[in-house]
Amino acid sequence: MKPLLYSLTLFFLFQTSLSAQNYKERLQNIDIKHYNLSIDVNDSTNKIDATALVSLKFKKINSHFELDLVNKDSITGMGMVIDSIYQNNVKVDFTHINNKVSIQPKHPFPGVKYTYTIKYSGIPKDGLVISNNLHGDRTFFGDNWPNRAHNWFPCIDHPSDKATIEYFIKAPNYYQAIANGYLVEESNIDDKSKLYHWKTEVPIPTKVMVIGVAKFAVQNIGETNNVPVSTWVYPQTKEKGFHDFSTAKEILNFFIENIGEYPFLKLANVQSNTRYGGMENAGNIFYYQESVSGSLEHEDLIAHEIAHQWFGNSASEIDWPHIWLSEGFATYFTSLYIQKFKGEEAFLNRLKNQRNTVINYYKRVQTPVIDTKTKDYIKLLNTNSYQKGAWVLHMLKNNLGDEFFWKGIRAYYQKYKFSNASTTNFKNVMAQVSGKNLDVFFDQWLKKSGHPVLKSSWIYFNNKVRIIVEQTQDTLFDFPLELELIHKDGSSEIQAIQISEKSSPHIVPTTGEIKEIKFDPSVKLLFEPL
Ligand SMILES: [Zn+2]
Repeated sequence: MKPLLYSLTLFFLFQTSLSAQNYKERLQNIDIKHYNLSIDVNDSTNKIDATALVSLKFKKINSHFELDLVNKDSITGMGMVIDSIYQNNVKVDFTHINNKVSIQPKHPFPGVKYTYTIKYSGIPKDGLVISNNLHGDRTFFGDNWPNRAHNWFPCIDHPSDKATIEYFIKAPNYYQAIANGYLVEESNIDDKSKLYHWKTEVPIPTKVMVIGVAKFAVQNIGETNNVPVSTWVYPQTKEKGFHDFSTAKEILNFFIENIGEYPFLKLANVQSNTRYGGMENAGNIFYYQESVSGSLEHEDLIAHEIAHQWFGNSASEIDWPHIWLSEGFATYFTSLYIQKFKGEEAFLNRLKNQRNTVINYYKRVQTPVIDTKTKDYIKLLNTNSYQKGAWVLHMLKNNLGDEFFWKGIRAYYQKYKFSNASTTNFKNVMAQVSGKNLDVFFDQWLKKSGHPVLKSSWIYFNNKVRIIVEQTQDTLFDFPLELELIHKDGSSEIQAIQISEKSSPHIVPTTGEIKEIKFDPSVKLLFEPL
């Protein structure tokens, strides 16, 4: 995803950490396999009537297990009330307190699949946002990131418990409904309402499970690599919207060719009311409603969200501190798309801008990319996860070379698709493919905060340069530094030195007298000159 504005997203901050506090314990007890969600929406009220069939297996047997579902609160009247819960047609006891449903299973066995039918209703506090769009039309859009899904359906709201999902959406017949997966059925129920049945074939995390119900104009723009691509926009500005998302096929192709097979059954780009700039919901990406302009100005946003289909949605981070495996990847793979289609200069300009952003951010916030302390997940949508994560991949690509980098990326994706990975899992794949020890690299750039801040002095003598590079920051880094040695006649040569000490002299041979030295001429190092 891409935030619209940090201040805007922070404004919406609420208790995101509560529901995940005990997820580790819960994941050791149960594994959710499938959600079957029947949901009725209408125009007379924001209340939804729903039935969730949650299929799961027990890993351990306890007297009860817990799902997340936001309670109805007496002040706002919003939240969900559960009517009944059945385990394979047998009524079971439950409590619903503090946004947790605690269910007492009947005679469960480990490894056997049980389905819990949960009938509930209420006005979603969040997660499924029911509002009017910029044209004044009523819309219903899921917007779950990071863990807002349990505002509208019972689930384990954590990215590491993936499941397949299907939706039976009943809505007034002038609306269209989109959701993850493929359209199994679209039927008229009576002369006023329609049923849409969407279903996924592969497991996805709750953060990217959504439905969207609105008046849409839909354009099917054909298939690429057997993936149908479509655009869903508000009818009032459909020509502009169709034009804006017309680049999706080209972007999709680029990633399929370089990363691997597309993980889902369709790609739909959807104008929506998401609070984010773009939200990468699996197979149907939601974009902020003002993004439609008719001027193709959001190609990088579209590329970012499409890259997430592989990284974030299919190969997902195992836990929130590893979110750079989503956001850093989506940011850097967008840059690689830009490099291919907009050229080297556009690519290098992005890298330079991102490097400046990282340097400025560090002046305010000194946390490492892998941030295990922040529990307000919205705050992880920061420069470390996006720009610095992208820069780590860029340096890794320079470290390994293009061939091993791409081979490693493809191997990582194949190993962790439809699953979850940690940063160590990623490191191990890249190390195995390249035959390099990457412990120091991953440790210094991801687990430690900061970056090299370099001071230098040099003298020329007898076709040699003696240069002293000093690392002025607290934590020492180990990295190659390229130098552009500029001769008196304006010609130049590139030499590289390895920096690992606080301050050490290097003797660099040259082919003539030097008048100037430039650091990192090819934009390969995340550093700050002093
Ligand atoms: Zn993103």
